[in-house]
Formats: sequence, C-alpha cells, structure tokens
Amino acid sequence: MAMAARQIVLAARPKGKPQLTDFRLEETAIPTPAAEQVLLEVQYLSLDPYMRGRMDDRKSYAKPLQVGDVMVGETVAKVTASKHPRYAEGDLVLAHTGWRTHALSEGAGLSKVDPALAPVSTRLGVLGMPGFTAYGGMRVIGKPKPGETVVVAAASGPVGSLVGQLAKIAGARAVGIAGGAEKCAFVKNGLGFDAAINHRGADFPAQLAAACPNGIDVYFENVGGAIWQAVLPLLNKFARVPVSGLIAQYNGPPPGDGTDRLPATMREILSRSLTVRGFINYDFAAEHYADFLREVGAGIADGSIRYREDIVEGLEKAPEAFIGMLDGRNFGKVIVRVGI
Ligand code: NDP
Repeated sequence: MAMAARQIVLAARPKGKPQLTDFRLEETAIPTPAAEQVLLEVQYLSLDPYMRGRMDDRKSYAKPLQVGDVMVGETVAKVTASKHPRYAEGDLVLAHTGWRTHALSEGAGLSKVDPALAPVSTRLGVLGMPGFTAYGGMRVIGKPKPGETVVVAAASGPVGSLVGQLAKIAGARAVGIAGGAEKCAFVKNGLGFDAAINHRGADFPAQLAAACPNGIDVYFENVGGAIWQAVLPLLNKFARVPVSGLIAQYNGPPPGDGTDRLPATMREILSRSLTVRGFINYDFAAEHYADFLREVGAGIADGSIRYREDIVEGLEKAPEAFIGMLDGRNFGKVIVRVGI
C-alpha cells in the first residue's frame, strides 16, 4: 500500500496564544507529478515567528491563511520524481511547501541547495531567511561602526545570534538579551558577545544600563514591549533601530499600564535624531542576498560564524514546537526534521 502524505492545517484562529487544537494533522494521498512538475519530499521544515501573524485574519505584508489551509513554511526538500526540465530526481531544493511531508511544484519559488556549501538545515536558519534578516538589517540600517554598542534581544535565536556576530565583525561591542541563564551563557561564551543579560531578571533595565556604559548606538529590534522600554532611554544621539520583529506582541498586546507612550517615544526619536526603520528581509534581497550567502557561508565553513539549531523530530511535533518558540522554550533555530 502506498504511504500517505501528511499535512498540518489551521483548524481554528487562535485567541491569544495558539493552542494545539488550533492545528489539525491530516493524511492525503501522495500526489503524482504531471508534465512540468516535480514531486517534493520534505526533509526539514522551518518554524518561524511570522507564522503566528498568518493565523490571524488581519491585513499585513502577506495574506492571512484561511481556516483549513495548510500552514505556510519554508522547507528543504528532495525531488523524488521530476517531469520538469530544470530539476532531476535527487536534487535538494529550498521550497515553500508549508507544513507537510510531500508537495507538487511547477518550479516557481524553488532554488537548488548545494549540500557542499553548508549543512542543508542551515539554509533555513543562519544561512537562510533569518540569517539574511540579520545581515540585511545590519548592513542597510544598523551600519555598526568600530567601538559602537549594538544590542539585540532573542539573542540565542537565528536572527539575534547573527546580529551580534556581525556587530563583532564590524568592530562593535555586542550586548545580547536572552531568556534565562543557560541562553545567556551560550550568547556570551558560545557566540562571543561581550555581554548577555537575562530579560527575565527583576532588575533587567538596570543590568542592561550597566552593560551599556556608553549607551546604545544600534538596537536591532526583535521583540518590542518591556525590552524596548528598557532600551529607549539608553539610545545615543543618531542611534539606528532596524525594526525586524515584535514577538512580544504577536499573541496580542502585552498587558500595559494604560499609559500612551507614543508622544514620549516620538519626542525621543526627534530630540536624539534616531533612525527607526522597519523592514522585511526580502526588501534587501536583490542587492545583498548574494553577498550574504558568500560572506556568511564562508564564516560557517571556517567556523568563525557560530549557530545553534533546535531540531524537533517529526511533523506531528510542529504545533507544540511552534507554540513553545513563541514562549521562548526553543534554544536555537527551530527546525522540524520531517524525513530524510
Ligand atoms: P527565535 O528563534 O529567537 O525565537 C523567538 C524568541 O523570541 C524566543 O526564543 C524568545 O527568546 C524570544 N521572545 C519571545 N517572546 C518574548 C518576549 N515577550 N520578550 C522577550 N523575548 C521574547 O526567533 P527568530 O530569530 O526566528 O526571530 C526573531 C525575531 O525576528 C522575531 O520577532 C521575528 O518575527 C523577526 N523576524 C523578522 C524578519 C523580517 O523579515 N523582518 C524575518 C525573520 C524573523 P528568549 O527566551 O531569549 O527571550
């Protein structure tokens, strides 16, 4: 009997934090490629914070999922049957198959993966979309200079870990913010940041200030909320703030004290000549993606750029791992090993 393909669909729109019941595992027949199509068997699935936004019925930079749709996601997949002139059986590709074991493709949006360049799972993390987010945001907006101080939160994850290492390569001081002692030890000793501060500590704002005696010149914003509030008073004149993500508010607005902070924030932006610029990684792809692959690929190959992956076994574990990542229970880039 032919094996069934499996997929995970959005079963219900989450109210606040996603629950396991917001996802449903389904079995379908393995499809057969028609002319000009390939059959893909997924090896690795990337779980990323942006997927939370797609689960809501809200206008954003990408269209929301409908209930019943397969969850979106980028994967490393193997071509197991091909009727497409550009792809042969056995090719490895980056694809946007979503959370499933098998998919058909006409080739649009596929790109070949060279396993000689780096371990293929890195193409979903440090050498993939999250890594390029760090690279593009730092190169175009952050622009760290020697001796400056760069601060980033979610510092043990794929975006933050590369932000700090790029700061060091530029001759700047790198201060990471992470949740818990174990992650902080990795950020400082494993990744080579100058300091790492636990945002769960009661005296977090004071500790951050102590770790940044000369203020902050680049704050790479991954989180928002209480971390942004602690960073804002420390920003130097002409500081740059690439706004990459606001994960503290993806499950809904964090509990506030009712104060409208926008007027005070705008005053700081004006009086300290701050550059605050949001971006989506692909804004920078045409100009900078080739440099990213070459530079960061070389750093991975010679060991000078370090990274950590949090590999989860089996497609059925994806919902639990995704929910855990939004809560900070991951330790490194979350990747689901779907099959090899
Ligand atoms: P990570 O693998 O680092 O996982 C998310 C981490 O966020 C958690 O592990 C947790 O780390 C931290 N976190 C979650 N909630 C909070 C909170 N309330 N306060 C502080 N920290 C929190 O994620 P990525 O590296 O993949 O993504 C990091 C950010 O970059 C996200 O905001 C994401 O949306 C954004 N991004 C933006 C892109 C763009 O194109 N603009 C593309 C890719 C990512 P800890 O336990 O250390 O607190």
